[in-house]
Amino acid sequence: MVGAACAYYAARRGLRVTVLDRGSVAGGTTGAGEGNLLVSDKEPGPELQLARYSTQLWRELAEVLPSRIEYEAKGGLVVASDDTSLAALREFAARQSEAGVACEAVPGGRLGDLEPRLAPGLAGGVHYPQDAQVQPALAAAHLLRAAGDRVTLRLGQEVTGILTGAHGEVRGVRTPSGDLHAPYVVNAAGTWGGELARLAGVELPVLPRRGFVLVTEPLPRLVRHKVYAADYVADVASDSAALQTSAVVEGTPAGPVLIGASRERVGFDRSPSVEVLRRLAGQAVRLFPALAAVRAVRTYTGFRPYLPDHLPAIGPDPRRPGLLHACGHEGAGIGLAPATGRIIAQALTGGELPLDITPFRPDRFGGGEAG
Ligand SMILES: Cc1cc2nc3c(=O)[nH]c(=O)nc-3n(C[C@H](O)[C@H](O)[C@H](O)COP(=O)(O)OP(=O)(O)OC[C@H]3O[C@@H](n4cnc5c(N)ncnc54)[C@H](O)[C@@H]3O)c2cc1C
Repeated sequence: MVGAACAYYAARRGLRVTVLDRGSVAGGTTGAGEGNLLVSDKEPGPELQLARYSTQLWRELAEVLPSRIEYEAKGGLVVASDDTSLAALREFAARQSEAGVACEAVPGGRLGDLEPRLAPGLAGGVHYPQDAQVQPALAAAHLLRAAGDRVTLRLGQEVTGILTGAHGEVRGVRTPSGDLHAPYVVNAAGTWGGELARLAGVELPVLPRRGFVLVTEPLPRLVRHKVYAADYVADVASDSAALQTSAVVEGTPAGPVLIGASRERVGFDRSPSVEVLRRLAGQAVRLFPALAAVRAVRTYTGFRPYLPDHLPAIGPDPRRPGLLHACGHEGAGIGLAPATGRIIAQALTGGELPLDITPFRPDRFGGGEAG
């Protein structure tokens, strides 16, 4: 998704772009997550700024991409089960509101107006009308197509080396089928962004953060918004490697309800975990009791690209002229992709940057050049 967005915006700035992927379009984490485009779960700060800008760009993209990308400006609803968590949620929302997020407190008794099938007895919630949703794999594919003939797509081509010139500047990439020369290389390798950086001789500590999603049989619209419990925000922000689950429930235009998503750092272990799925299912049923009678038909898993401060790496790498990074978006890469693509395109063409990218500097973890 992120590579597609970089290619799209770079092509619109007049550049010729070759997109290389060792797999298929959306064969990485993009094809293994959900497609929430959220402001609701973001603390005021650089990531929220990026998300707000990206939300605006997604709205524009939804106008030019086909409706098959399933863009839905459905809004989010965050709910609290008791007064203590409601107070914390409202305080969080007040700070977001000061940072420009549209949000509105919903008393417990009015939650049913927004979500008629929600469990009774919840203390209250906050409605975030700017949250939206998209089908990530379709969005990535259609964005690449919409980029036009300035973009060449080379699938099944692994980057095995970064070519450099006499002064260490980037000159292109090496693949098993030959070298490709270019004055700039954008590292949009997601969870494998650290490996790609290392090929260029620089360190970027991207790690996998595993997540499972549970998919139900297709249903008539039972869940209208993206609905989740207030504890989710703390899970997202946690630095712990241990398992965290707090269900995020959403309907899709195609019918299945998606129940996501767990978070844990267990390397690239793909083995299914019944325990994780049981916890997600239990939490979803507590939010929507009607789901207890619904069959889960499949699950899938993916590895979020995690950087230690939960912020992506976006922009030129001062350690390696000609190398730019656009990776490490953890659980928000679909939402943040257009803003990232736009920033990269501006950086490549010397245009004005839409926001301050200092917090996303790829060299902020130190480490200098890799040995
Ligand atoms: C369970 C789960 C739920 C999620 N839910 C959401 C959500 O609701 N909203 C949201 O915004 N985000 C969500 N995410 C996160 C989101 O999916 C990711 O942040 C996003 O997909 C990252 O996109 P990307 O383009 O950076 O990486 P990827 O999609 O992984 O793309 C990187 C590509 O690089 C290729 N590659 C790697 N190394 C090489 C190489 N050496 N040569 C050639 N190609 C290479 C890979 O094949 C891959 O296709 C979720 C993730 C998970 C796991």
